[in-house]
Amino acid sequence: MAHVHIVGSGPNGLACAAVLARAGVEVTVYEAASTVGGGTRSMDLTGKGLIHDVCSASQPMAVASPVFLELDLEDHGLRWCYPEVDLAHPLDGSRAGVMVRDLEETVAGLGEDGKAWAALFGPPARAFPRLNRDINRPIIHFPSHPISLARFGLPSLTAATTLAKGFKGGAAKALFGGVAAHSFSPLTRLMSSAIGMALITAGHAQGWPVARGGSQSIADALASVITGAGGKIETGRLVRSIDELPAGEPVVFDTSPAGVVGLAGHRLPEGVRNAYQRYQYGPAAFKLDLAVEGGIPWLNEACRRAGTVHVIGSFEELVHAESETNFGRMPERPFLLVGQQYLADPSRSNGEIHPVWAYAHVPNGFTGDASEAMLAQIERFAPGFRERIVARAEMDPSGFSAYNANYVGGDIVAGANTPRQLIARPRLALDPYKAADGIWICSAATPPGGGVHGMGGANAARSILRSLSG
Ligand SMILES: Cc1cc2nc3c(=O)[nH]c(=O)nc-3n(C[C@H](O)[C@H](O)[C@H](O)COP(=O)(O)OP(=O)(O)OC[C@H]3O[C@@H](n4cnc5c(N)ncnc54)[C@H](O)[C@@H]3O)c2cc1C
Repeated sequence: MAHVHIVGSGPNGLACAAVLARAGVEVTVYEAASTVGGGTRSMDLTGKGLIHDVCSASQPMAVASPVFLELDLEDHGLRWCYPEVDLAHPLDGSRAGVMVRDLEETVAGLGEDGKAWAALFGPPARAFPRLNRDINRPIIHFPSHPISLARFGLPSLTAATTLAKGFKGGAAKALFGGVAAHSFSPLTRLMSSAIGMALITAGHAQGWPVARGGSQSIADALASVITGAGGKIETGRLVRSIDELPAGEPVVFDTSPAGVVGLAGHRLPEGVRNAYQRYQYGPAAFKLDLAVEGGIPWLNEACRRAGTVHVIGSFEELVHAESETNFGRMPERPFLLVGQQYLADPSRSNGEIHPVWAYAHVPNGFTGDASEAMLAQIERFAPGFRERIVARAEMDPSGFSAYNANYVGGDIVAGANTPRQLIARPRLALDPYKAADGIWICSAATPPGGGVHGMGGANAARSILRSLSG
């Protein structure tokens, strides 16, 4: 029987191993850290008895992931918890753009822009169960549902600044822009709408839940599928070269393309090695984990009920900040994603002390301290917030790359979302998962890209199964 070796236990590596193990293939997963999970780990980072998500927090892609559904993760202990409000985006003067799972309620809250929001996101959200498989594959494929995909895909081709012109008011523009900015792209760039379209569509179709007990529960459920099907997982095992693994047996890398070159460059065809070396990385993250007594005193009431809050102010400020980070300059007022997962999952708090998760977009390799700018941004929309902080932990871009070699220069989404890399990542190929004979890559640097969904891993597993049976 074939034995497949998987380097890295992020959600893609684990999903790859789980699909293979369920198909009867022997698998061993090697993970450098002492626990599985990659970007889906949780721990008490502030020492206050709280559950903090070290990386991923809100899970719109995981809850809808075809492979996670197929693997029956709920039978392995995973439970989703839904916040009352999925996303809020405060503006100066206590207003906010607010998104809830229910499209009609969101539309009603957006006033004069409600109709445009419904026209843009209503049809793909309704078609989501059909669209989902097409979105989660390499872009270059024959779609199963071409009309639904076109209604979703055409707006995705535009720059976020172009799509935002369809909204008249500041709230809808900012609400959409903040989600588009999950791409870490300049919002004037072609296709910078794509990730916003996908996440908002998924949000209206499935919500933006969090995993009960922390994102770690997703990794633990995947690990349970693997071991339940006879697979092995070795933690605390840093693989330094492919030559350490048994010769002649397939190897899958849940790593960046740079990681594959470092570990197996001598086994790659020259064209593949060059393509992986040309692969571009994007801006970085600077993260603060806070223990906050009584939570954040947002001026806007919906923000106090929101699982995720986007902090920057207006759409114009957002466009400026994202342009600056992409040009390698630290903006004075950065864009922040703030997570209040405890609202949906109270098990993460310790009495009145709550875990708050926040990261800012900063330039790749940024060596400065973004924490003051971040705290000032939150304080701007929640006066009195600083006095409530009882403990904090920080991770800067170099901390991120030390924590996980996949985060090159602190890029937490495994590669710049340029049009080229959105269409063909990590290189242009009919099978983007296959790197060479016997070598595959399955990380977020492969389609469908960053996020916790495991679909890079699932698609790579199917490529391996085809090769094993061929
Ligand atoms: C701060 C932050 C916030 C995020 N927020 C969200 C969010 O809210 N929602 C969302 O969907 N996504 C979010 N993400 C992104 C998401 O976590 C990643 O896209 C996802 O984890 C990528 O999964 P992966 O399997 O490709 O790789 P990773 O999760 O990066 O895992 C790779 C694993 O491989 C291991 N590894 C690497 N090299 C070796 C080696 N040589 N030997 C052994 N092991 C090795 C690493 O230690 C790591 O455990 C966030 C990420 C970060 C960092």
